[in-house]
Amino acid sequence: MAKTGDICTLCGRHSREVNILISGISGAICDACAVQAYEIVVEQGKSAKKTSGLNRLELPKPEDIKNFLDQYVIGQNEAKRYLSVAVYNHYKRLLQTVTSDDVEIEKSNILIVGATGTGKTLLARTIAKLLHVPFAIVDATVLTEAGYVGEDIESILTRLLQAADYHVDTAQRGIVFIDEIDKIARKSDTPSITRDVSGEGVQQGLLKLLEGSIVNVPPQGGRKHPEQKMIAVNTKNILFICGGAFDGIEKKIAQRLNTRVIGYMAGKKTSHLDTDNMLKYLTPTDLKAYGLIPEIIGRLPVLTHLEPLDRNALRNILTEPKNSIIKQYIKLFEMDNVRLFFDEEVYEFMVDKALEFKLGARGLRSIVEAIMMDAMYSMPSEKKKELHVTLMYAKEKFEKSDTNFLQIA
Ligand code: ADP
Repeated sequence: MAKTGDICTLCGRHSREVNILISGISGAICDACAVQAYEIVVEQGKSAKKTSGLNRLELPKPEDIKNFLDQYVIGQNEAKRYLSVAVYNHYKRLLQTVTSDDVEIEKSNILIVGATGTGKTLLARTIAKLLHVPFAIVDATVLTEAGYVGEDIESILTRLLQAADYHVDTAQRGIVFIDEIDKIARKSDTPSITRDVSGEGVQQGLLKLLEGSIVNVPPQGGRKHPEQKMIAVNTKNILFICGGAFDGIEKKIAQRLNTRVIGYMAGKKTSHLDTDNMLKYLTPTDLKAYGLIPEIIGRLPVLTHLEPLDRNALRNILTEPKNSIIKQYIKLFEMDNVRLFFDEEVYEFMVDKALEFKLGARGLRSIVEAIMMDAMYSMPSEKKKELHVTLMYAKEKFEKSDTNFLQIA
């Protein structure tokens, strides 16, 4: 008969059947059970953290939140400040106890407008890392009015419920980031006569969520499970952060500013306008002109924008954030015991290419990938201990690569 120390106390397998058997005082555990146990501990820890009550002392202050964002996101100071304050106020509202003066803090949902690739999703993801409440990122492009092909508005809350491990109370205090909100703008400024299933109708549906109401949510999402029992979720305390590129909104802003020039500001100089960054002058009127219904705009009282990324910002994005693109490649090579390092001029070259292909930050990764491809293929089977990327090397590899993919990146 096998001795106690020879078998895994949990699964009963013999030491011969497992890779490692770790002995304890009165039993042993095999490697497979140890890994499984570890995963359970991590999962339980996560849900315990999400569902635990908020403690006033533990609340990150707006400055703490901004400092945290600074570690991952370059620039965008104004948007970071708005987000930090909104998240902090959200916490405060959740902690608010009923007071005798009847002052109830209302939520202030946020709208972030910024060109693609300037960091909207990155900001949202980074916020998620720090939060003590459940957080879900959803894409507005898939939403359609109930009864049409696509996802119903309620599916937004399915994600949040999932993030809260189906604890309704916790989900009701969560934060939702709705990306690409501009894609549900109605097609024209005036209400449509024909059905606009992916525009105005969706906005009306969304309005209900933003305003705060009790919504029946399909726990599995979608319509594939018609038998599922709905869960009622109250959205009153859920903070909504919306983001969108609003392509072409600059034109609406310019039109409005010009009209003003012709009107009461006639004769005044407009040369001080920063035409490279028209979003600076964004107002709710422009959002209405773009096709958001006034009720939605009213429910997104905090409006902020992201700056276009200039040369300097792109250069910093390569190396400065905590998990910057370059740091990720250095790590990849380090795992094969290869020291990877770059000449400063290489970074400038990468930025030049990103600007040349008009790709912004989004293209930087594809450019680095193109330059590193050959090395990533051959280094693991070579004996070399380091790779020094010079400008000549980078140019040669980049020119050799198929840059067609950059056109659509
Ligand atoms: P958006 O949501 O605005 O279209 P993303 O946040 O998805 O853009 O940005 C795309 C990629 O570009 C990110 O994964 C990140 O690597 C990089 N990036 C964009 N903006 C920044 C920024 N301000 N700081 C650091 N990296 C950025």
